[in-house]
Amino acid sequence: MLEFQGRFATEGACAEYLFERRWPEGFVCPGCGGGRAWLLKTKAFTYECADCRRQTSVTAGTIMHASKLPLTMWFWAAFLMATHSNGISALQLQSQLSLGSYRTAWMLAAKLRRAMVNPERAPLSGLVEADETIIPFRTKSDPVVVPAGRSGVGKMLVAGAVEIDGGTPRRARLKVIDGFGKQELQAFVLGAVAPQTQLVTDDWPSYQNLPGVRHDAITLGPMAAHIALPWIHRLFSNLKRWGLGVYHGLRKTNLQHYLDEFVFRFNRRRTRHAAFDTLLVIGARTTPAPYRVLIRKAA
Ligand SMILES: [Zn+2]
Repeated sequence: MLEFQGRFATEGACAEYLFERRWPEGFVCPGCGGGRAWLLKTKAFTYECADCRRQTSVTAGTIMHASKLPLTMWFWAAFLMATHSNGISALQLQSQLSLGSYRTAWMLAAKLRRAMVNPERAPLSGLVEADETIIPFRTKSDPVVVPAGRSGVGKMLVAGAVEIDGGTPRRARLKVIDGFGKQELQAFVLGAVAPQTQLVTDDWPSYQNLPGVRHDAITLGPMAAHIALPWIHRLFSNLKRWGLGVYHGLRKTNLQHYLDEFVFRFNRRRTRHAAFDTLLVIGARTTPAPYRVLIRKAA
């Protein structure tokens, strides 16, 4: 942590790091593709293309674009979110960064969360457990609503998969789904795993006849799911505990982004320092989302 603070103590150090991550081969103008530019003296960390004169700041087109917060603040927030073993709520972020407003902390966390899916990530492969679960959600008036028995009421449905290598879990995927039908679950599995994956599920009919996947469906007796599919069940129970612990219950709005945050941290649990780097690299390539998109209501 001290090493981090020393390395990224100034705006210049942060800008230089972003420059190297965005343009590892040297500056490339996003307008004309030209490689010659001047660093402007009048605007912070902004380059003017020698060919087309377009001005590009080191944060243009990244999640940090047009932010009034200093880069040091962004870096510190990314470090906390990526490396903290349980993650960090907006309220905790506000206090750690000594931010004046909760809304600023919330925005920072929401934007960083959107950089938690690497668009180039490889699908799960080898041996994969998959299952689906129901998680309770929090309403505006606060208490966690325990899922009711009727479908679609008081429920958030989540599909999950865990890749297992040598008896231990490696990477995971989680996705919000609309139902436990064949269409939803097969779309999830086929989007998450590589062809020829050895998939293990329970005998829920929705998983049957998955094209291109080798499939073991285990017939479960009562109470045996956590024994037959131990890793996906552990992932689901960790997810639920995390949602209650860090966020005091997850909300329906933006649920997928919270699942992405959980998976990001799970997949990098053994390499937390590399996680910071990954988060900023993805962040530097992620199109910024305006405030109205961040706060849109769940359908
Ligand atoms: Zn240009």
